[in-house]
Amino acid sequence: MESQPMYLPEDVILKVENLDVKFYTYAGVVHAVSNVSFYVKEGETVALVGETGCGKSVTTRAVTRLIESPGRIEGGSALFRRRSGKVVDLLKIGDEELREIRGNEIAYVFQDPTSSLDPLYTIGYHIHETIVAHKSKISKKQTFKQAVSLLKQVLIPSPEIRVKNYPHELSGGMRQRSVIAIGLSNNPRLFIADEPTTNLDVTVQAQILDLLKSLQENYKMGLILITHNLGIVAEVANRVYVMYAGKIVEEGYLEQIFYNPSHPYTKLLLRAVPDPTKKIEKLESIHGTVPSLINPPPGCRFQPRCPFAMEKCLIKEPPLIEVENQHRSACWLLERT
Ligand code: SF4
Repeated sequence: MESQPMYLPEDVILKVENLDVKFYTYAGVVHAVSNVSFYVKEGETVALVGETGCGKSVTTRAVTRLIESPGRIEGGSALFRRRSGKVVDLLKIGDEELREIRGNEIAYVFQDPTSSLDPLYTIGYHIHETIVAHKSKISKKQTFKQAVSLLKQVLIPSPEIRVKNYPHELSGGMRQRSVIAIGLSNNPRLFIADEPTTNLDVTVQAQILDLLKSLQENYKMGLILITHNLGIVAEVANRVYVMYAGKIVEEGYLEQIFYNPSHPYTKLLLRAVPDPTKKIEKLESIHGTVPSLINPPPGCRFQPRCPFAMEKCLIKEPPLIEVENQHRSACWLLERT
């Protein structure tokens, strides 16, 4: 029987639906990502936001099939439009096609640049290796030239010298720029940046964000930014997905989330961002911690920490309810009776 052709709206690069990831540990089954759906359009930045342990990185790792045992992708689809126009389900294609896509049409920059770089090889060699993995008919001279040009694009000074440097010879900011350059080597359609500015000082953070913004405009790629920092989201995102305990609890355009947040978790996250124009007596925080995902709380997963929890919240899980056009939130307070 012939399979049905997969459909994606023309401007959408990636559409993830009902993604489910579980980890089978000795302590029990961790429901790390439950029923997560989101999409990314060409040329837009989508932010996945939430505290550590909310499932942001597991979501993007699952989309690129980088979940290792004891983790398992238990359900869902991740439709991706390839450069050729062909739409594939990343969760179902064969390993060979997946290898063609990863590092080529989809680039992934992980949290800690040091762990992505091999200390035995120069930055130039890392770029060379990434290019030749997908283009066999290219000379070392050409990849070297391309490496210098990429380092120049990510604003590394003296790229002709830096290309011959080993990772330990670069500062933290330069290493981060280098992994971004490696990610850009094959002109990806989708760029995933997982906490790209953690461990960097504020000035370098701002430079990296400006860089990602301008590269995205130049390359017209879709960018998924994973962060817990709402200040960063405000700087670069077009649309935002707020995650809590492995689920999306609110989604919308940046302005909708920042000026009209409707989920109590989003509101508390925003209140926890210090306002530099006001004198702060005490930093706001959200009491409690993200629950164990082995036995998530019944009903709404946020109920143990929510100041507005009602009886219904303890029994029934809220679906995503429409707040306004393209803005949805999973909270029973929005239910119209
Ligand atoms: Fe709070 Fe209930 Fe809304 Fe959950 S559904 S966020 S517990 S009010």
